[in-house]
Amino acid sequence: MLATAAKPLKKRSTGPLRTCLACHAKKAKNDLCRFAVTREGVLVLDKAYRLDGRGAYACLDSACIQRLLRNTKKLHKAFRRQNLKVSEDLHAIFRSGE
Ligand SMILES: [Zn+2]
Repeated sequence: MLATAAKPLKKRSTGPLRTCLACHAKKAKNDLCRFAVTREGVLVLDKAYRLDGRGAYACLDSACIQRLLRNTKKLHKAFRRQNLKVSEDLHAIFRSGE
């Protein structure tokens, strides 16, 4: 079978693209971090991509994360709820980026 043109081999890392909630860049899941909200309404970093429910994504970049934490309206919209509490983890990231 003849190969058509010079198609690069499919990269293993390309999965469905997600959009950063802060800068709207479309990236593979691996290049983004996932946020989730616990049952108690606390926004946490979902490092293992394992938490249930809605997720929001942001670049693995403290600038984007800081932007999101400052603009909680976007988070409220993404998670369709008000009164999100930001976890200590996230505050730590937020602070370290300054
Ligand atoms: Zn971003």
